[in-house]
Amino acid sequence: MIKLKNLTKVYRTEELESTALNQVSFEINPGEFVSIMGPSGCGKSTLLNVLGLLDKPESGSYEFLGTEIAQYNEKQRSDLRKKNIGFIFQNFNLIEELTVFENIELPLIYNKINSSERKKRVDEIIQKIGISHRSNHYPQQLSGGQQQRVAVARALVTNPSLILADEPTGNLDTSHGNEVMDLLCKLNESGTTIVMVTHSAHDASFSNRTINLLDGKIVSEKESKLSQAAV
Ligand code: ADP
Ligand code: ADP
Repeated sequence: MIKLKNLTKVYRTEELESTALNQVSFEINPGEFVSIMGPSGCGKSTLLNVLGLLDKPESGSYEFLGTEIAQYNEKQRSDLRKKNIGFIFQNFNLIEELTVFENIELPLIYNKINSSERKKRVDEIIQKIGISHRSNHYPQQLSGGQQQRVAVARALVTNPSLILADEPTGNLDTSHGNEVMDLLCKLNESGTTIVMVTHSAHDASFSNRTINLLDGKIVSEKESKLSQAAV
């Protein structure tokens, strides 16, 4: 599903050049759940942005769903992103002025889905995620755990093949964090590929594989205990 080869990303400002990703290569197969770990500044967010087609690499190759991304223009990348990729953020990134229902509906509007189909899909996912009774509430009226569940629903409503999660439990207490991890595991079991940036070894243990970055380079990769146990 994802094939990176010698991917390099350099940020340039007038005084400074900073190599955020340095010759990164790896592959992710459909249905995998992969964690990305490493200290602050090692390139994790940059990597997610490149994988999520939000940012272009400097050099190297990125194949997503069998196609080299470099050949796409901005509009094509944005279409590909809207159809195939869902994002989950540490700060939930819900729109405060919109209700739970409207927040989850938004990606369907971007994808030009008609209103009756939108209602059907949002109702379905709201139920699945256990927040039906909160449909008309605003994000401020929900706990952090509930807000992140809404954010997961928003990421999922378009049925993306890939979910990119940037420290999804970073702002949650242990029990709500575990709830969100539970949800991600269920998603992954139903076939969705997940790439998750995390600082938590506990969260990473739910994934199949962990990639460790340092100064923009992969320094190690290991299968997680759970997936070894499952073999
Ligand atoms: P992480 O997510 O692991 O903390 P980042 O991907 O945010 O790391 O950053 C990797 C490196 O790239 C850091 O040295 C950071 O300072 C630099 N960097 C990130 N974004 C920018 C930017 N927009 N402009 C300049 N440098 C950046
Ligand atoms: P649940 O376990 O039902 O998902 P929580 O245990 O997080 O939810 O919260 C218990 C109740 O307190 C919920 O009804 C929730 O909406 C409410 N609540 C929690 N945090 C907040 C908050 N910051 N503002 C308003 N209500 C909150």
